[in-house]
Amino acid sequence: MIPQPGDVYPEKFSYLNTPILKEQRDCHMTHTSALVHDLLREGFDRSPMFNGRIKSLGPRYCPSIEDKINRFAEKDAHQIFVEPEGWHTVEVYVNGFSTSLPEDVQYRALKSVKGFENVKFFRPGYAIEYDYFPPTQLRHTLETKLVNNLYFAGQINGTTGYEEAASQGLMAGINAHLKINEKEPFILKRDEAYIGVLIDDLITKGTEEPYRMFTSRAEYRTLLRQDNADLRLTPKSFELGLATEERMGRMKEKQDKSQRFVEFFKKTSFVPDEINPILEEVSSAVVKQSDKLFKVFSRPKVTMDHMLSLNSVSDFVKENQLNSEVLEQAEIQVKYSGYIEKEKNNADKLHRLENVKIPESFDYSKLKSLSYEAREKLEAIRPVTISQASRISGVSPSDISVLLVFLGR
Ligand SMILES: Cc1cc2nc3c(=O)[nH]c(=O)nc-3n(C[C@H](O)[C@H](O)[C@H](O)COP(=O)(O)OP(=O)(O)OC[C@H]3O[C@@H](n4cnc5c(N)ncnc54)[C@H](O)[C@@H]3O)c2cc1C
Repeated sequence: MIPQPGDVYPEKFSYLNTPILKEQRDCHMTHTSALVHDLLREGFDRSPMFNGRIKSLGPRYCPSIEDKINRFAEKDAHQIFVEPEGWHTVEVYVNGFSTSLPEDVQYRALKSVKGFENVKFFRPGYAIEYDYFPPTQLRHTLETKLVNNLYFAGQINGTTGYEEAASQGLMAGINAHLKINEKEPFILKRDEAYIGVLIDDLITKGTEEPYRMFTSRAEYRTLLRQDNADLRLTPKSFELGLATEERMGRMKEKQDKSQRFVEFFKKTSFVPDEINPILEEVSSAVVKQSDKLFKVFSRPKVTMDHMLSLNSVSDFVKENQLNSEVLEQAEIQVKYSGYIEKEKNNADKLHRLENVKIPESFDYSKLKSLSYEAREKLEAIRPVTISQASRISGVSPSDISVLLVFLGR
């Protein structure tokens, strides 16, 4: 098998000063083969997925090995990542080989994979079939519309995945707590968090197959960055009483320092002689006149490392004790400021529609100028705002105009 070492500089999940893994065990890569596929095919007629006993849709983005053989019949090899389960065990997770074929078939096929000739099973692969409630029956708080005070989170809503389940559980828990204490609900918007996209997608569009959160489902990806997740969400979490003073303090320090650093680039001028060697190095047009640092830093290929080679910049960093997180944040804010601003404006436009509320008991049947499909979908989903209505498939821009006119906007 081919060794697959971990990241040289592993990133941490937490913004707090948690220790990160210093030493890692390698993963390994191997492949299936035409022989392995032939062995697996021998079990197809005994597989509940193929002989019709199970009619459910599998997760599109992590198909079983039998699914891959079937769907991509032209391929005679599929990649397998072998992942160690821990320091004190010989158990490995065979990623890419999920299967519900009969145990004897699995074992024979796996032993034919290069590197697995002497493999022993702890337990065979398996599939589970589960049911869900169409999530269009939920409010943004994840409270069910049909039963007051009942909240649904996770796979029961048609999603698949650990993070999908965990984030919904968090939101349902927060909202159940707020409701019982007669406080305003806590809803994250689509431009504030992936959780906002996930929940809004589920309750507005529903899902026909196991739903997984992808960055591509978000329209505001420039705003929803992982480097600013703390800046976006810590204040909200603190207000709810979840984030500690320490976490909030660290976030504020990062925010203040990055802002000051960006301001520094906007205010501080350079002289052509100090900047031109850098511009030449990256094949960017040299300058004849002095200007603000922000201008050259915004150019492609000019990096924070280049900036740090200037005395004025490195002095500022030392004086203000700026750490790597602040440097990264300032660099992103300078380099992408144009795109970030543009996306913020787009999001603001959406917020204006977000503010046009539709009464809960709104009678769509009265609005004959709505298309039949729109009326039917709006009745079923009962969007809370015009913005949510506009995201329902089958509700067209002209239906939205009709609604806006009726609501006096
Ligand atoms: C083999 C397999 C591999 C997977 N691999 C991945 C992966 O690599 N990455 C990933 O992101 N996701 C993976 N998933 C999906 C992920 O595990 C699930 O989507 C997620 O765990 C669902 O969480 P949940 O809390 O909604 O449901 P569950 O984790 O199923 O929790 C539901 C809980 O309710 C309990 N329960 C049921 N009925 C009752 C009752 N009547 N009374 C009380 N309790 C009850 C159950 O015992 C269970 O503990 C995998 C799933 C499977 C099956």
